[in-house]
Amino acid sequence: MRAAARLLAVFILVAVSSAVAQEKHLIDPTPPGSLNPEPLPPLQNPDAPSTPAKELFARKSTPFPGPPRSIGGYFDGCLAGAVPLPITGPGWQVMRLSRNRNWGNPQLVRFIERFAENAKKVDWNGLLVGDMSQPRGGPMLSEHKSHQIGLDVDVWFKPMPDHVQSREEREFGSAADVVAPDQLDVDPEVWTPRHIGLIRTAAQDSAVVRILVNPAIKKALCREAGADRAWLFKVRPWSGHAEHFHVQIACPAGSAECKPQAPPRRSDGCGHDLEFWFKESTLHPPPSKPKPPLTLAELPTACKHIVKAP
Ligand SMILES: [Zn+2]
Repeated sequence: MRAAARLLAVFILVAVSSAVAQEKHLIDPTPPGSLNPEPLPPLQNPDAPSTPAKELFARKSTPFPGPPRSIGGYFDGCLAGAVPLPITGPGWQVMRLSRNRNWGNPQLVRFIERFAENAKKVDWNGLLVGDMSQPRGGPMLSEHKSHQIGLDVDVWFKPMPDHVQSREEREFGSAADVVAPDQLDVDPEVWTPRHIGLIRTAAQDSAVVRILVNPAIKKALCREAGADRAWLFKVRPWSGHAEHFHVQIACPAGSAECKPQAPPRRSDGCGHDLEFWFKESTLHPPPSKPKPPLTLAELPTACKHIVKAP
């Protein structure tokens, strides 16, 4: 009987911990891709006004030619003249190649090159680069609301290995989640001072407007940043972002069509500012109805031409 009770206890423990693992996965999915991605099936009625713009942009596998143009806002725009980030660079490797999201404004590529170089100075071997934008920017079929104008990049919290990874490793390698299962703090088994150096290095780049990290990471940065805190205001809490951080760079000079987002307040965002994020209702929000997807009519007029061009 006692053995049966012990077995039951073990069973409950396993069930609970797998529920926690599942929840962690849901807050920050970095799903594996495919080595042979299937092209999306053609749309029945691509010109219908109700067609979600993401369906159109996801079907474009090449950039719109010409000079670089980030058009519209980070959450409602598109991209012309995009350039790809090479999948292997001197200080980075692109992950999840099947997604074809390693495109950006040339200024974003310059930033990543610079960041990878500077990160070496804080003992970060190299960047694992996640999503940037699609070849023509625009909304995506999965995961992001922003990343639409080639000025956003996700960088993994896991350092680059010492070898050039195979396609398999890039598609199926798992990310490192630096947040504890209860989401109240970082996971001391994974979080290191080098992670702080990495985020600080990105924040200190003058092109960077804001960085999004999980609230537990922001809490750790507030506690562990030390005396130099001038960069902390750029690092803002957001849900998810436990396996990667999101870096947003400013509209490049001279890009008249780019709609800037208001910069974060110049306060460090520590203390009371963080309380909201650790409330039960924020950590476990009730299910909400998803917003209807953007249509082309809700994007700048130029985006219609850009996505419809062959
Ligand atoms: Zn992102």
